[in-house]
Amino acid sequence: MNNYYQQDIETMPVEKIKALQSERLVKQVKHVYDNVPYYRDLMIKKGVTPNDIHGIEDLHKLPFLSKADLRDAYPTGLLAKPLSDCVRIQSTSGTTGRRVVAFYTQHDIDLWEDCCARAIVAAGGTREDVCQVSYGYGLFTGGPGLNGGSHKVGCLTLPMSSGNTDRQIQFMMDLKATILCCTPSYAAYIGETLKEKGYKPEDNTLKAGIFGAEPWTEEMRRDIEKSLGIKAYDIYGLTETSGPGVAFECCEQSGMHINEDHFIAEIIDPDTGEVLPEGSKGELVFTSLTKEAFPLLRYRTRDICVLSREKCSCGRTFIKMSKPMGRSDDMLIIRGVNVFPSQIETVLLNEGYPPNYQILIDRENNTDTFDINVELSSEMFSDTVKDITNREKSLSGAIKTMLGINPKVHLVAPKTIERSEGKAVRVIDKRKLH
Ligand code: ADP
Ligand code: ZN
Repeated sequence: MNNYYQQDIETMPVEKIKALQSERLVKQVKHVYDNVPYYRDLMIKKGVTPNDIHGIEDLHKLPFLSKADLRDAYPTGLLAKPLSDCVRIQSTSGTTGRRVVAFYTQHDIDLWEDCCARAIVAAGGTREDVCQVSYGYGLFTGGPGLNGGSHKVGCLTLPMSSGNTDRQIQFMMDLKATILCCTPSYAAYIGETLKEKGYKPEDNTLKAGIFGAEPWTEEMRRDIEKSLGIKAYDIYGLTETSGPGVAFECCEQSGMHINEDHFIAEIIDPDTGEVLPEGSKGELVFTSLTKEAFPLLRYRTRDICVLSREKCSCGRTFIKMSKPMGRSDDMLIIRGVNVFPSQIETVLLNEGYPPNYQILIDRENNTDTFDINVELSSEMFSDTVKDITNREKSLSGAIKTMLGINPKVHLVAPKTIERSEGKAVRVIDKRKLH
């Protein structure tokens, strides 16, 4: 069963895709050079002008953009259109100081929603389907992206947002949802809750799920497929490139096709920036070819993966990316929220604690656990048990204000966190994700 949303594009011969990318790249570089002084300066520093870019073979001449550039240019320094042409923003999962704000024209939203529609159709979606969107709505790209894609396909869309699992299940049952879109951990949780309520997998009408925004394993896929009685498809994206739908899985469920008419993907060595040949493992870099308002060129995602252009039985010719296998920076994704250890360190210092801490993450019942051991200073160590319990509560509150999610803080005696001879081991991540 081969379903396409935009067949001509999705099955275009590779040579034609490359020609289209070249043509779009030349135009996009000029658009960015003319309208984004921040990137123009980077190009000038690298000694390259739009006249040097004749096609995708010249892509490597362009400078990279990183999250640090987004921070420097926050909030509008990378905008390539007047604000009056923009109709919406979206933003990354609330992390102070690291927040990314992406801008969209109506045209940008339209193309983004096409990408999400391709993912829904690849998972078997048609206008007969009832699509339950249980990603968060609001600044997060998950809800709005899949919502738009579902409309484009013509599905009856249930804009549930995340949370309130009893209500999710009631609507799923009463309105006979056939496609579920949410994070894989939420899908697993819905599956468990259905079981607890005494439902069997065949009691629901779901046939497929489109799950992404966080790392998940093949084991988790099998568990979810079994507990919900569906086929589970992966979807990938990031706010910087518009959101989910940059890449999506087809019926083969073996890697995600990248929407190459809108994005050029490269794999680089994260240490040297050197472009690596196809099939190598390295950092994924995206150039957006069609975005008007927030067109990032050579954006370093920090996601580590492999690209492959083997023939796919679905008929799509777009290159495939493997599941991300990790990150080349220290960003953690805990319960769907981006967390940098440095943010926790900032809170500790602000609250008067020594910067000796260890973050422990695990996954129980498909939900991330998030514990932080923090050393007391010797003055604090004389506090009573009651004082310490209060301290733990207040520190956990301060961290929640910074990150948006609640850790369990454990205050420990001075000098009890093991010192390392090299880099401090700040994070112990026991989730088996790769
Ligand atoms: P999103 O709105 O997609 O969560 P963010 O910008 O907050 O966007 O986070 C993007 C990051 O989420 C990606 O760089 C990647 O690390 C992770 N991510 C998104 N989709 C997936 C996926 N399907 N598998 C693994 N990681 C993913
Ligand atoms: Zn395929």
